[in-house]
Amino acid sequence: MIMSRRITLSACSVLILIFLITLGGCSVSENEICFSADFESGNLPVIKQLDKTGSAWELALRDDNNNTSLPNNFRTWWYLRADNVPVQKKLSLEFSRLGFPYYFVPVYSYDQKNWHYFDENDVELMSGCNVREPDTCRLVVRARFTESTVWIARSFPYTTRDLAAFLSSVSESPYLQVTTLGQSPHFQRPIQLITITDPATHLPKQTIWIHARTHSAEVGPSFVLEGLIHAVLAEDALGRALRQQFIFNIVPMHNPDGVILGNYRTNASSVNLENSWLFNFGSPYLSSAAPLENRILNGNETAGMVSIMKDRQAPVVLALNLHSSNSDPDTAAFFFPHFGSDAKYSASEQNLWRQQLAFIKSVASHFDGRVEQPPLEGGSLFLTSYYPESWWWANKEDAVNAITLETTYGRAGFDHWITQDDLRSLGVALAKSINDLNLPHSGNLNVANELSVFRLPFKPEIYQRPPE
Ligand SMILES: [Zn+2]
Repeated sequence: MIMSRRITLSACSVLILIFLITLGGCSVSENEICFSADFESGNLPVIKQLDKTGSAWELALRDDNNNTSLPNNFRTWWYLRADNVPVQKKLSLEFSRLGFPYYFVPVYSYDQKNWHYFDENDVELMSGCNVREPDTCRLVVRARFTESTVWIARSFPYTTRDLAAFLSSVSESPYLQVTTLGQSPHFQRPIQLITITDPATHLPKQTIWIHARTHSAEVGPSFVLEGLIHAVLAEDALGRALRQQFIFNIVPMHNPDGVILGNYRTNASSVNLENSWLFNFGSPYLSSAAPLENRILNGNETAGMVSIMKDRQAPVVLALNLHSSNSDPDTAAFFFPHFGSDAKYSASEQNLWRQQLAFIKSVASHFDGRVEQPPLEGGSLFLTSYYPESWWWANKEDAVNAITLETTYGRAGFDHWITQDDLRSLGVALAKSINDLNLPHSGNLNVANELSVFRLPFKPEIYQRPPE
């Protein structure tokens, strides 16, 4: 926690001290704005006052764990509290050192629960942003607040407490179980596994694996999962069909240490877990050099990815890896499919590509076309790194459709800035597409010739950078 000014306690009375503690360190007597972030997922930029009246401030984004060796493009997240905010006076908040060059609108809240976007007219991305020169990337918010305490964040926060509250809200369901795969290395927080199925149905089933929040402040997938889980638990035709056909294995928060610390991408040791699925061919177990969080998901003969990978009673068919991507505001959610239809790819590689395109098309059709068109070719670059998809391919090839989904932060295909409920409805679309997996035509669609379900123009550039 860092305050905008140093507090001196020389002759302060106990009462003043209590006030200071109550306001997280703010100097109430001086009536000056005080910024803090002493709460879960809080991340306080480096604050600099830009004028004498206290109405203009620079807020320079920090690296995860203040680790300046991390790439510039890891810098995305902040989540702060401001006290003593002058009500109805226009403030200028200049967020600098952004790790991406796209226009966006941050969110604010007066109660840490109900979040609102700033008015787009009050938010300006300064021209000339070059992420390699971080001080050139600045977003200025000029806004009046109606309350003297306000929380401001890059996007809707979703903490371990939010997850606990959600899980508590569905804990009465007879179809859902929550277990702990292991404890996170820094805070020893549970890395949980949600299992959903209908235990009374003994038909042959298939397993769906989903994990999220590898990149700790990529919050969109948490709302997607809430929508998907509600759909799977619902007492309606879709919910019943899903529970009878499938066993859902969902890890909702892969990197709780990063979530608590307010990191954007890395864990408490500044490790990017996403490309650290270190494995050797011939063994399903990750190397002992892999980060603990990944070895926990990797599991063993009775829990985690290894156990479901070996399960012949309920073979795993789909493995979704959920993320969020900084993008142009009109970029909708998108997938990173692998390989392609070209003859240079083997039969199993082409088969994975076909399955992935069919799934992408299905999600688009259930989400009113608000999914980006797939690339013309996915390529095989993922085989040269240690992504979870690399592990799935090494172990199961085209038997498992392992694919990354990126939600986005902007309008994302809507006519408004995307809301938590819009993200939840993407989760419902995923549930419907999973229900379609066993339709007779699934996997055989020639999607390249059937692009009518995608309502957005093709944007090849989103596939020309590595997954975020
Ligand atoms: Zn990510």
